[in-house]
Amino acid sequence: MKVRTDYHTIVIGGGCLGCASAISVQRRLLRDGDDESSVCILEKNLVGSGLTARHSGIVRSANAVPVAARLAKIAADQWHSLENLWGVAASFDACGAIWIARDNGQGGNAKWDSLEQRMREMSIDFHKVDASDARAVLPHFVKLYDDELYYLEPGALQFDPTTFRNVLYKALEQNSVQMREKTEVVAFERNEDGSIAAVLTKDGDRLACSHVVNAAGPWSPAIFAPIGLSVPVSAEPVCVVNWLTSYSDIESVFPIIADYINLAYFRLWRDNEIHMHQPRKRVLRETARAFAESPLSVVGADFVNDPTNQGLGYSQIRVYEEISRHRFDNIGQSVYGSGYKSYFDITPDLKFILGPDHRVSNLVHCLGAGQAFKYTPVFGEIVADFVCGGENYAPLAAEFSIARFDQAYMNDFWERVSGIDNSLEAEAEASAL
Ligand SMILES: Cc1cc2nc3c(=O)[nH]c(=O)nc-3n(C[C@H](O)[C@H](O)[C@H](O)COP(=O)(O)OP(=O)(O)OC[C@H]3O[C@@H](n4cnc5c(N)ncnc54)[C@H](O)[C@@H]3O)c2cc1C
Repeated sequence: MKVRTDYHTIVIGGGCLGCASAISVQRRLLRDGDDESSVCILEKNLVGSGLTARHSGIVRSANAVPVAARLAKIAADQWHSLENLWGVAASFDACGAIWIARDNGQGGNAKWDSLEQRMREMSIDFHKVDASDARAVLPHFVKLYDDELYYLEPGALQFDPTTFRNVLYKALEQNSVQMREKTEVVAFERNEDGSIAAVLTKDGDRLACSHVVNAAGPWSPAIFAPIGLSVPVSAEPVCVVNWLTSYSDIESVFPIIADYINLAYFRLWRDNEIHMHQPRKRVLRETARAFAESPLSVVGADFVNDPTNQGLGYSQIRVYEEISRHRFDNIGQSVYGSGYKSYFDITPDLKFILGPDHRVSNLVHCLGAGQAFKYTPVFGEIVADFVCGGENYAPLAAEFSIARFDQAYMNDFWERVSGIDNSLEAEAEASAL
């Protein structure tokens, strides 16, 4: 078969978001009578080998950002009927989630109760349950305390990321998406109006296209810097540990535990392990620091793939053990099974970058901000709306345009990295709080 060198759409990056974008665009084109194989993914390593290889596979909808919650709800429904959307189904546990929050007095916590209220208004089932109800759905080795509140999200799902990689491959094949692995994008050829005429690869290929989708996560800054486009994404390290437990302890799949007292997510992992990691740091100063302290991440993210950057230190495992002991009474007898360092893709405001680039007319971004696996199917549909023209999902991306990171925003942001907010005095003040 002759290999094509011109495409309707080229997607850079074969992670979950790049694959979803390619599949959704290809299906729209086929639906509209276009010829087959007019979408191509360029992936410099292997499909699903970036951040998509090392996440926790948790899909939950409750979110303090209303439009993010709405998108998550749409995505959760789409996961259930993925076969209609992608032509292949995905397997997952419909395990639900228990969120644990601090009781700020009289059985309440205003912030969490208001989240419950907002979720109800959006038809997302996220409701407070009492300790005995929480006890009933959690395994006996989970410790509960008097000063805690519990919220149940019955619709939460959990995936096995390794199995899900296979779904990505199958769906690309099923939908005739061209997939070029081990193909690195190194440059662009531009038209007179600044739009992208062709993508150039490290192997010396020139691939012409009408549209480009950037789904290269934290590698994006390095790809677009040579043509003068800043894409503010960085990578924040996070540790992951899997504790072996006794198979006889696990009676059935138990809910994901989003523990906001110990700041950790726990889930059942491959039937006999407890998987844990801590959430993204949310303080703006810390986020800015991730950009400042990992200067490499601003121009490239290959350190993510370097095995020497994936190992865990002894003390880090001990810290996680302490946290886990607070929540589980079987961790004392548990054995460290495996662990690794992974990376959150983060933007300055921790929100996604979705939609067209205001500087290059045929470039669309699809970037996650540390919590994007769950949105995979709906993000693909959003990208397809932007590329093929559609209104079903694109309006939901309005607040995630890259245009929000204008010069004034970035000046203010960098001031937090190098300016007064990052001085020794500010440090002392913060630690005194
Ligand atoms: C520990 C941990 C737990 C997480 N748990 C969850 C969770 O439970 N639920 C959830 O929703 N999210 C979770 N996340 C977040 C989630 O992993 C990411 O948001 C998501 O995987 C991002 O996918 P992506 O497709 O954007 O990125 P990636 O999978 O990194 O894809 C980008 C791809 O671009 C490729 N690329 C880079 N440069 C080039 C180039 N020049 N040419 C061609 N290709 C290139 C890379 O090789 C890579 O494969 C977690 C993250 C971490 C770190």
